[in-house]
Amino acid sequence: MQADATVIEARWVIPVRPRAAVLENHAVVVEGGRIAALLPVAQARSRYPTHARVSLGQHALLPGLVNAHAHSAMSLLRGAGDELPRERWLRERIWPLERAIVSAQFVYDGARLAAAQMLRAGITCCNDSYFYPAETAQGLRSVGLRAVVGILTIDFASRYATDADDYLRQGLAARDALRGDPLVGFTLAPHAPYTVDDATLARVAMLAEELDLPVHINVHETAAEIATALHSHGSRPLARLERLGLVGERLMAVHMTQLLDHEIALLASRGASVVHCPRSNLKLASGIAPTAALLRAGVCVALGTDGAASNDRLDILAEAGCAALLAKGLTGDAAALPAWQALECATINGARALGLEARIGSLEEGKEADLAAVDLGSVENQPCHDPLSQLVYSAGRENVSHVWVAGVPLLVDRAMSGAGGAARLDEILQAAAPWQSQVRQRLRQHPQQPASASPATNNQQ
Ligand SMILES: [Zn+2]
Repeated sequence: MQADATVIEARWVIPVRPRAAVLENHAVVVEGGRIAALLPVAQARSRYPTHARVSLGQHALLPGLVNAHAHSAMSLLRGAGDELPRERWLRERIWPLERAIVSAQFVYDGARLAAAQMLRAGITCCNDSYFYPAETAQGLRSVGLRAVVGILTIDFASRYATDADDYLRQGLAARDALRGDPLVGFTLAPHAPYTVDDATLARVAMLAEELDLPVHINVHETAAEIATALHSHGSRPLARLERLGLVGERLMAVHMTQLLDHEIALLASRGASVVHCPRSNLKLASGIAPTAALLRAGVCVALGTDGAASNDRLDILAEAGCAALLAKGLTGDAAALPAWQALECATINGARALGLEARIGSLEEGKEADLAAVDLGSVENQPCHDPLSQLVYSAGRENVSHVWVAGVPLLVDRAMSGAGGAARLDEILQAAAPWQSQVRQRLRQHPQQPASASPATNNQQ
């Protein structure tokens, strides 16, 4: 038997490329961590008789899901600031908590917990932006996920860094230290136009060019952000980024709930990507990105969960379903963002936004074997006339059964695989527990004011 050679058979293989294709009773052949072939099961059995075989029955096998915007360590802050509009959530809850307890250990423990949660949701690649990027990468990699982490920069000091230069210096040092791991990538991640000044944004634009890195930034998240920017800079944030040379193919503009027609045209003409985080935007009442218009204009729209403090499920399948429904509701067009396109947003578009399209995001020969299998044979998913529709509108993360990253099985029948997989999960949960006490203690010391106590909303900053 050839080492690291497996035939994975499934009732349906959804390769994402070609577009909207569904291959019935097909197999994906994995050799040396890459996809060697896609072919009918019978042919695979006769052509690769000595390969190991995984038979998945009534499953759909698809590319691993790409989470294009996450703050993994915030899994430890899940539920710590519910029912607050975004500005109050950030300024009264999240930033004070982060100032009080975020450390390298917090980030490592939180990233590992998030990684286990994402793995069990079929996510194989996570694009993160947070303090302590090296610890984030290590946490995600400890579970086997493909990690892209942000070289974060913000103008204010934190427990992690003293000023914008220090953030960049530490992030670049993390990139140097992790250079040897082919499953770790980096972005430049200025937090947002309202927390980073012109000089730093210009420097980020220069570094992005020099190092050939994507630029991962929150932009146009709320109407209040636009109003404040008009007041303080005299222009909308996207126009400011454009003036500073940041609107191009490398830009991953996260949220984008507020967009004018000419801004959509600008993003399309420059080849920029938008990362849509529908559940986070809904929970914080931030707004809704016009995904149907963006996609129609040719903009690459990827999906992100955001952090667990603003979207408790780290679940890209749920984002895909939510995105598809929201697009229909927003446009009044039931054909807007169909299931096949929502799955593209969850896979190949995330890969493209990250500059990883040649390596992952679809099941094509030669690509790295990042795969997720979803069991559509459960009672809740019967009958199954169309697996694409079923994946987006019916299935949930609880139906994700198997996951591979670069051909390595990480989840087998919903259990973390490999030597000591179960023990590793126990250890992750044990490491997370003390942080829960710390967060609870902190919240007790600073109880939340009822939302009605303040007139501030997203529209009245
Ligand atoms: Zn975010």
